[in-house]
This record gives sequence, structure tokens and C-alpha cells, in this order.
Amino acid sequence: MAKQYDALALLSGGLDSILAVKLIQDQGLTVLGLHFTSPFFGKSHRFDSWKELYGIDVVEVDISRDYVNMMLQGPPNGFGKWLNPCVDCKIMMLGKARALMEKYGAKFIISGEVMGQRPMSQRRDSMSLIRKQAGVQDVLLRPLSALKLEPTPMEKSGLVDRSRLMGIVGRTRKPQLEMAKERYGFREIPTPAGGCVLAEASAAGRFIRVMEEKDSPHPMDFVVAQIGRQVWAGHRWLSMGRKQVENQRLEKLARDTDYFFKTVNFPGPVALGRPTDAGDWDEVSIRAAAELTASYASKAVRHFEATGEPVTVAVIHKGETAEIRVEPRRETSVDWQEPKQDIVKPWKQAQLEAQG
Ligand code: SF4
Repeated sequence: MAKQYDALALLSGGLDSILAVKLIQDQGLTVLGLHFTSPFFGKSHRFDSWKELYGIDVVEVDISRDYVNMMLQGPPNGFGKWLNPCVDCKIMMLGKARALMEKYGAKFIISGEVMGQRPMSQRRDSMSLIRKQAGVQDVLLRPLSALKLEPTPMEKSGLVDRSRLMGIVGRTRKPQLEMAKERYGFREIPTPAGGCVLAEASAAGRFIRVMEEKDSPHPMDFVVAQIGRQVWAGHRWLSMGRKQVENQRLEKLARDTDYFFKTVNFPGPVALGRPTDAGDWDEVSIRAAAELTASYASKAVRHFEATGEPVTVAVIHKGETAEIRVEPRRETSVDWQEPKQDIVKPWKQAQLEAQG
């Protein structure tokens, strides 16, 4: 049987979620943090440090597949400024938390939401909608804004002492910082938000290209789409490492069906060509990707410029390695383009229309 707790918390690792837990722990109640992960957010490598710094037990709840499905179907409550479906994201997390209450013996759920702090998901009306649509009206407590909200059943029954909760509202972070420093003496103050690439402009175009070219993208496709330099030529998708750590990640994420490019005899980036629904690449595309990959290997380029000798690029695909000799070039026979941000708005509009 799993260890039992009084409450489950949505724990992004951002300051608000940590303070919400501390307020409940202060009342002698035990709390288990649920840290939701997907290709777009998640810091499961921080669990040990959260335990050490803030005294919070945390488990990972991987919602990757459901989350990607929600993105593909179109979040019913729409997107925020970029590709962040904050309202439906919260609804999904709270729904999952509710389903886990029995396993951990929890009597209620807490979240670090602060009324009025974020335009999309933390307005009074959206907070109320989230609570209803997630089916957690009777069990959700928001300790940081509790005094500005209707008392919950947990407060009414005395399980939680309402007078020891907070009434923070708005975008100011002052009360939270004061609590972190003065009341709890945190050695390390976490960043305000938990970190989510869906709210970043630069990532939105990258993700949309994946969804445009694949009917059922795998969650890991969205991980690949965050790595290094991303270029597309029609349905051909190429991800190139810009530094060693990115090369290593791409190497790790490469699948048998991908095209994996690497310059031979010279250091340089690796590149991962991932087929989309359009299927395998033709010879022209493979050569063009090899030329582009070689063009980012500066030593190979210098050697080519000095000697005129083509550069050898290894191409690994379906367990076979072929070596092709190419001239490094940025302008190849296919037109590689970085995903543009201006595709975001029309894509969101088209999705809305498709939902009716
Ligand atoms: S910022 Fe990202 S993780 Fe946070 S609520 Fe919005 S979509 Fe979810």
C-alpha cells in the first residue's frame, strides 16, 4: 500500500506551489506533492532537492500521452498567448489528482493558484470553472488565496484552520517572497512559475510544425522539437545539435526509422531527420540534409574551402550506415526553413474553427 497523506498538492516546483504546501504542513497535516510531467513541462530531476530544501515528498505523474491528445483535439477552453492551454491543463491535473486521492488516502487537494495572478487560468471566473470542470468542488483548497474565496468543506469541517491560510490576490509577488524569506527562511527561492515551454513564443512554431505534419505525434516528438536548431523543408524535419549536450540528446532520442547524420573525420553537429506521415525520404532529401549538417561543421568547411575535397557524412537509417560525400552548403536543393512564429495565430484560429 502507498504511504498515506492528508492532502495531495499540485506541485510544479514554482514558489507558489511550494508555499501552498508549507501552509498546510504548518497545520500538522501531511502533504504529497504531485509533479506532473509531459514533453512541455516537468522537473523530475529536482525531487531530491525539493525534499531537502523544502521538506516535501513528491511523486511524478506522467500525463504526456493524454496531454498531447488534448493538444491535438484542441483544448476546449482554448489557448493562452502562445500554445499554453492553461485552463484545460489545470483541469486535467486536478482530475488526475482527484483520481489519485484514494491511492494515497488523501482527504483533499491543494494548489498554489493565486487569484488574479495570471490572465488566463487565475481569474475568479476561470478558477471557478476549473474547479467545476475538474469535478473537485468539494475537495480543492487554494491556501494562498483562501481568505478571498468561499470557505471550502475542509475549512468548514475544521480539518483545515481557515484563519491560518492566506488572502493573497493579484500579480504582486511581495507576500510570497516575504513568506519564503522571513517565515520559512528558504535558502533557495524557487522561480515564480514552474517552467512550461508552451507559454514560450519560440517553441510554439516548432510544435505546430510537428502537429501539422503528423496526425498522431508521439510525445517524444515534442521533446525532439525543443532540441537545437530546427529546420523543415515541406514534410522533412531535421533537428541539429548546436552544442555537445544537444548532440548527445539527439543521439539518445534517435529511432531506428530516423535518419541520423554525422560528419566523418571532422567534429561537428549531429542531425536527426525524423520522417513524418509523408514517409521515408528520397535520395535528394538525404543528400540535402547531409550538406546542411556538414555546413555547420566548421573544420570540415575550412578543409573543403582549402582543398575542394567533399566532406564525408555518415547516414544511419534502419540499422544501416551509408557514407556520402557532399559539399557543405546552407542553400541546398530543398529549402530548409526554421519554423516561424507567424504560423501560430492562423493555426490556433483554424483549430478553433474545426472545433465549431
Ligand atoms: S503554463 Fe503550462 S503548465 Fe502552467 S498551466 Fe499553463 S499550460 Fe499548464
